[in-house]
Amino acid sequence: MSQIPDAWELLRQRCQVCTACELCKTRNQLVFGVGRQDSPILFVGEGPGQQEDLQGEPFVGAAGKLLDEMLSIIDLGRDNCYIANVVKCRPPGNRDPKVEEQAACVGYLMEQIRLIRPKLIICLGRIAAGVLIQENYRITRQHGQWIQKNGIWYTAIYHPSALLRDLNRRPETFLDLLSIRDKINEVCPEFYQ
Ligand code: SF4
Repeated sequence: MSQIPDAWELLRQRCQVCTACELCKTRNQLVFGVGRQDSPILFVGEGPGQQEDLQGEPFVGAAGKLLDEMLSIIDLGRDNCYIANVVKCRPPGNRDPKVEEQAACVGYLMEQIRLIRPKLIICLGRIAAGVLIQENYRITRQHGQWIQKNGIWYTAIYHPSALLRDLNRRPETFLDLLSIRDKINEVCPEFYQ
């Protein structure tokens, strides 16, 4: 007897055949997301890069390795968080996703958020923050600040790719990570136990 696909599988299948923007023409693999599907903590980047497109998983290249190291500082990882992107197919040449591509894809992310029901959403970089926190988000000025919307706490930190390019941003990101740990302890005191 065949099993009825659950909401996650149905959503993944819809993304798999999606042709809502031109990124479908150049993708090798869809990058749907990875992690614990009921985690209270969701990280959101902007879109897949070359390695992610080849492997079908978010943050697996050099930036992904750095993200894993950053998360491990505060005892987070792919086994206790969920990681997704604003767009699920790679923008060619690692360019930023266009506004129309973000608009075409963000509905899938919103459905993931409804299924995960996170208490904290951490945007990785200005594009994700511009979509989820505030239009024209200024990452240099606003990173590490918290706002609450519809019962979810949001913040943004520098994208790991930016931290690979600019080592000077790392000390402030370390402080942002400590702030994330403090917010987790405040909002989900059971998380680290
Ligand atoms: Fe569809 Fe999103 Fe891929 Fe565009 S980026 S084709 S909207 S899944």
